Amino acid sequence: MVYELKPFDPIKPIPNEKKRVAYFYDADVGNYAYGAGHPMKPHRIRMAHSLIMNYGLYKKMEIYRAKPATREEMCQFHTDEYIDFLARVTPDNLELFQKEQAKFNVGEDCPVFDGLFEYCGISGGGSMEGAARLNRGKCDVAINYAGGLHHAKKSEASGFCYLNDIVLGIIELLRYHARVLYIDIDVHHGDGVEEAFYTTDRVMTCSFHKYGEFFPGTGDIRDIGVSKGKYHSVNVPLRDGIDDATYKSLFESVIKHVIDWYQPSAIVLQCGGDSLSGDRLGCFNLSMNGHANCVNYVKSFNLPLMVVGGGGYTMRNVARTWAYETGILNNEILGPDLPYNDYYEYYGPDYKLDVRPSNMLNANSPEYLDKLLTQLIKNLEHTKHAPSVQMHYTPNDREDLGDVEEDSAEAKDTKGGSQYAIDNTIQQGNEFYEDDDKAEGIGSKNIENHENGEPTVDIKMKDSSNGKINIDSISST
Ligand SMILES: [Zn+2]
Repeated sequence: MVYELKPFDPIKPIPNEKKRVAYFYDADVGNYAYGAGHPMKPHRIRMAHSLIMNYGLYKKMEIYRAKPATREEMCQFHTDEYIDFLARVTPDNLELFQKEQAKFNVGEDCPVFDGLFEYCGISGGGSMEGAARLNRGKCDVAINYAGGLHHAKKSEASGFCYLNDIVLGIIELLRYHARVLYIDIDVHHGDGVEEAFYTTDRVMTCSFHKYGEFFPGTGDIRDIGVSKGKYHSVNVPLRDGIDDATYKSLFESVIKHVIDWYQPSAIVLQCGGDSLSGDRLGCFNLSMNGHANCVNYVKSFNLPLMVVGGGGYTMRNVARTWAYETGILNNEILGPDLPYNDYYEYYGPDYKLDVRPSNMLNANSPEYLDKLLTQLIKNLEHTKHAPSVQMHYTPNDREDLGDVEEDSAEAKDTKGGSQYAIDNTIQQGNEFYEDDDKAEGIGSKNIENHENGEPTVDIKMKDSSNGKINIDSISST
């Protein structure tokens, strides 16, 4: 047997490890709403943020509000006419776009709601800016929970996703990295990202997902990529009820082989929370620790890492898990009792951090998993000779980080209260501890200076030609 069930050990922090973590958050994101009854609720990102702040993680990482992605930036992947449509359509003028609604697949799953384009801009901006900071070595880990919208296609909305922030972030990483690995632990197949890079060996996509009578229907183990991209799409189709130990055993083995063979120089990890036990749409049985173990394992390879959000439809559990994972990325195990936070009432009756598994049946037999793993490893052997790509300077970087300004007070966003902002506040003698003891309260004092002005991280787009990216055009092979 290639597959071996390993015990699930508790996650431990690594002594003396310090990673520089850049966390992207825009307080506006929680205000967007897909509509009554829709399972996708951006509010969960705000809930996660409040937990993260009230656990004190602002002391450990730098907090930024990204400049929203521009139309031109979006069109590095998406078509002009699709982005044009997203920019123009509103609930009020929707009837003028009958034809486009069908063409671009907006409607029930992907409704047109107020502020849709701004919402896309926030999601895309965080992933692009996170990638830009990783590129310049300004951080080791970048986090954007407003991102991870992996179903969006070049010219079509899909599965609650409109803009594919992940593809935009990876395109940014490809300016500096010869090979980028994308890992997806959402319960759904990461089809939009896979499709975008299906024909290239510069990106390997690796998706673990429920397969069989489940959205979006793709992600068969036999889908491995085409042309130069052959063997560079890895699909791990799973059945209902996978538990922590099973997921860990399979995930670690697959990822170890992937990294050994492919040797990426940067990793993007999509942390969709719908693979958690008890998700409103999902059917896996991962506890918070089972989900977070993936984050901890990927982090252990010490490669530049971008962490994005994704699905997740039981809001309180998504918020818990993303907070816990933010702790892990900062080498801290958060305590079991939730701190008081803006959404405390959501976490009753126990007000604990943990997301526990249920007693559901695990339909993934050791025999099935062994067959899967055997085939996956066999495919990976074809990627043994990692493609050699000579990198050269590419002029159209998103971010001009050539000066010292980014480390100044103005350049740091204080939305959630970065350590800099907090220190600054202390120096000014503001008694922020009396401000309800809430980090959001702390931040809000400083935010006021920025709220009506420009986002505080200054990004200049250099001339970006016509905005179309051909993957091969950004290498010199
Ligand atoms: Zn999903």
